[in-house]
Amino acid sequence: MNAKGGNGGAFDWYFKSNLLMRILIGLVLGAVAGLAAGDAILWVAPFGSLFVRLLKMIVMPVILTTLVVGAASISPAELGKVGVKIVIFYLLTSAFAVAIGLLMGNVFKPGLGLELGALGEAAGRALQKPSLTDTLLNIIPTNPFDALSGGKVLPIIFFAVIFGIGISYLKISKDERIRNAGETLLSVFDGAAEVMYLIVRWVLQYAPIGVFALIAVVFAKQGTKVVGPLGTVTLACFLGYFLHVIIVYGGLLSMNKLNFMTFLKGAKEAMITAFVTRSSSGTLPVTMRCAGENLGVPRNVYSFTLPLGATINMDGTAIYQGVCALFIGFAVGMPLDLTQQLTVILTAVLASIGTAGVPGAGAIMLLLVLNTIGLPIEEGSAVAAAYAMILGIDAILDMGRTCINVTGDMTGTVIVAKSEKLLDLAKWK
Ligand code: ASP
Repeated sequence: MNAKGGNGGAFDWYFKSNLLMRILIGLVLGAVAGLAAGDAILWVAPFGSLFVRLLKMIVMPVILTTLVVGAASISPAELGKVGVKIVIFYLLTSAFAVAIGLLMGNVFKPGLGLELGALGEAAGRALQKPSLTDTLLNIIPTNPFDALSGGKVLPIIFFAVIFGIGISYLKISKDERIRNAGETLLSVFDGAAEVMYLIVRWVLQYAPIGVFALIAVVFAKQGTKVVGPLGTVTLACFLGYFLHVIIVYGGLLSMNKLNFMTFLKGAKEAMITAFVTRSSSGTLPVTMRCAGENLGVPRNVYSFTLPLGATINMDGTAIYQGVCALFIGFAVGMPLDLTQQLTVILTAVLASIGTAGVPGAGAIMLLLVLNTIGLPIEEGSAVAAAYAMILGIDAILDMGRTCINVTGDMTGTVIVAKSEKLLDLAKWK
């Protein structure tokens, strides 16, 4: 078997054709099959889960190994600069994103005239809001192994950075034994990271089938619901996603003299994977591969910025929250005033930071936004009914927002790498 997984036999046509083309075909066929066959296609679901599980299998090892290697090969001062820049980038673009979402909501006015009574189906889950101090303290793992097995990204970032910096000190020790130990440890992590990338490549060979199954299931269950008022919500969200990519990402990339088309070409595998898996964290191995291999970002930058982005940078989610907050306001006959809309900007940015990069997380955080603008979900209330409607098409909205979330992480990463003169510009020619 060669590295691509083909063995020169009956499946040659599969392995030798263009991967992206195959994935796109899977996507289109999945959508058609889902709409046409409806529930009859649901049996393919496990093939989609298989793809997501394979990706998830690699996430934590890839974050730990690449970040340790990354932190060991960048000076703490440089890491600090990259860190500050990327966080500012993530926050500002998220604020823009909510504003675009609100703009779309104000233009399309989804939900206007819906006049939901107070008797709608109740939806909503109680949301425990952790305090800011707790959130910050939780970044420090009390047990790194527990954080690793629990898939907690921020604590692992924290631990891996400290561990990597530790290794870089071992490497310059005066004691030869310690120096050797540092080098060996670094090689071990480096080797492990390389193996992870190889596995990602193998997993991607399965992507077309996984993509077909994931999309077929979503369209079978939700495709036909995207009509009427929910159609406007969907349109407003997707137009918002589109504008954000073109105006904000395209604009920022051109301001930094980076070609937008080259960016999209390098980023597309991760964008499609995010679209179908609806998980920025699950997509992380593919995002890292795109950043490193296609966009020329060095590992010591993306190993830090991308896992961080997958955790705190959610521009698509922010747009969705802007549109949906307005939808719910209109639907229950209480359109949001300016103060409420400004509050949405603030809380949606914070909520998107707190949103985990997993399917459906944004819908839960929407509850927080609704709470702060005085539209809490109460059983049997009109707000609950409007929220339930949105939940009905969440998978479709989530595909778009996750794609934007991941695209935003990659945009920030290339721009920060360029500003630090660390970007391999040969890949952009
Ligand atoms: N699914 C999104 C993501 O993983 C989060 C969300 O639900 O908004 O990025």
